[in-house]
Amino acid sequence: MDCIFCKIIEGVIPSTKVFENDRILAFRDIQPAAPVHILIIPKKHIPTMNDVTDEDAPVIAELFAAARQIAKEQGIDESGYRLVNNVNADGGQVVYHLHIHLLGGAKLSPLLGEV
Ligand code: AMP
Repeated sequence: MDCIFCKIIEGVIPSTKVFENDRILAFRDIQPAAPVHILIIPKKHIPTMNDVTDEDAPVIAELFAAARQIAKEQGIDESGYRLVNNVNADGGQVVYHLHIHLLGGAKLSPLLGEV
């Protein structure tokens, strides 16, 4: 499968990992948009949030649990952070392997979407 994040999971493409278990991987974004910018992904290849099924509920919950833990480890849980999931073209999705952006370490600009 020609998926860059699957290749990161396989170790074919290098990444700076910050968290890993059997189901989840988190690594630093290569083009950080904030002082802390980490991508949290399921190891299962799920292209977009639209493709999540009821049976994926546990791993989706685990993505958020990992986000909580990583935010604490990065020291931004109290200062605050943002979790973002882009879906398809209008959402700005570029990599079609489900991921949550964890952004923090600075006061982020308001983000409510724009046209
Ligand atoms: P999205 O626009 O939500 O699909 O976000 C994809 C993110 O993946 C972007 O923020 C990219 O900077 C990031 N990205 C792409 N390739 C890599 C890579 N090899 N290692 C780390 N982050 C990457």
